Amino acid sequence: MFDRLTVLGHALNEGRLLFRDRAALERHQSRLAAEHLRWAAVHSSYTAWRFQQAGLSVNQWRQLPPIGKAEMMANFSALNTAGVTLEGVLALARRAEDTRDFSPGLPGGLTVGLSSGTSGSQGAFLVSRAERLQWAGVVLRHLLPGWPAGLLKAQRVAFVLRAEGQLYRSVGSARLHFEFLDLLRPVPELAERLTATRPTLLIGPPGVLRALLDAGAVARPERVVSVAEVLEDTDRAALEAGFGPVVEVYQATEGLLALPCPHGHLHLNEAHVHFDFEALEGGYLRPVLTDLRRRAQPMIRHRLNDLLVLADGCTCGQAARRVVRIVGRQDDALNLPSASGSRLTVWPDFVRAALNRVADLREYRAEQVDAARLHLQLDPDTPVLRQAAEYEVQAVLARLGAGEIELSCGPLLADLPGAKRRRVVQSWAAN
Ligand SMILES: [Zn+2]
Repeated sequence: MFDRLTVLGHALNEGRLLFRDRAALERHQSRLAAEHLRWAAVHSSYTAWRFQQAGLSVNQWRQLPPIGKAEMMANFSALNTAGVTLEGVLALARRAEDTRDFSPGLPGGLTVGLSSGTSGSQGAFLVSRAERLQWAGVVLRHLLPGWPAGLLKAQRVAFVLRAEGQLYRSVGSARLHFEFLDLLRPVPELAERLTATRPTLLIGPPGVLRALLDAGAVARPERVVSVAEVLEDTDRAALEAGFGPVVEVYQATEGLLALPCPHGHLHLNEAHVHFDFEALEGGYLRPVLTDLRRRAQPMIRHRLNDLLVLADGCTCGQAARRVVRIVGRQDDALNLPSASGSRLTVWPDFVRAALNRVADLREYRAEQVDAARLHLQLDPDTPVLRQAAEYEVQAVLARLGAGEIELSCGPLLADLPGAKRRRVVQSWAAN
């Protein structure tokens, strides 16, 4: 079922898409956009409606008001071009998650991935077979160690991912073997299976990979690829010591958004995805992306929840912009009183940075439970760590100009099975 030649074709073609000239990259994007947007406006009735509502023609697409996950989900059936309903897709995806059987797909080789998201509303994302092959080609080209010579020896690629089964477990041969490890399985079992896989390339969320390492998994891949969660310095250090060199991919259910270059920096995947940005305070940028190829579920002027810090230029010479920092992902921004009596937005990475300073703290969750109250779950939960954690969090809040904040501490509660790890959570609903 998996067409290795198509994947290799995409991987080889990808080499031509590593633009060194910004103007050439932008011409490439305009060419793809003109064709793709025209196609989407014909085949996706919701997309056509958006243009109509805004009084814009298709070639004015960059002025189209952005939508987010809520609008996407509310208009799912009219947005997708595969003729499937949200109810049908969710029922299928949940059944697959419950039974761990991913074989009953949607018509035409479509697969569906679910995202939990911070707002609690679940997102559903359709991927066609053609899109899957393209994804695999791009990943191979960018991440297979020693491309293209790396193809000459046997490669075993282990993906540790959540219930997106078919999206990822597609390739199998002696030369190039893809192993799918379902992260809903018990950790000791996963750790054993990972050891048995002897991967040359290991791909998964850093929190899970860290748990597998701690559970005794033994692997010496040439490269560890961190996906789906923010890679924090402590996890990176542990994974590098335990498994091997770590690189970070910026992948969300919304798409493959950025890939590492040979010089170890993350570049926006601009050969396939167009990015506009909304500027926020503090130099943060909120991406509004337009996937220039994705057809099953067109992503056009789609606003992400993540915040980015970007830089121009890289020693590798690629024209695609460089991502210096990704903020947010699964974590929430806090909404706290400021010293002057107004409300203050506290980005989650400030809280994470504060708690990362607490020596011997293995894991934590910081949750805003009331208008001016934070609860810190700590592991281990000792009087010394409580004191240090409270000190660090109060210090950063004071520096950011927060007013009086009440802190409490307690032991770390277990995550729900399969849930993405969230370290900074906003549970209090501001009115
Ligand atoms: Zn670079």
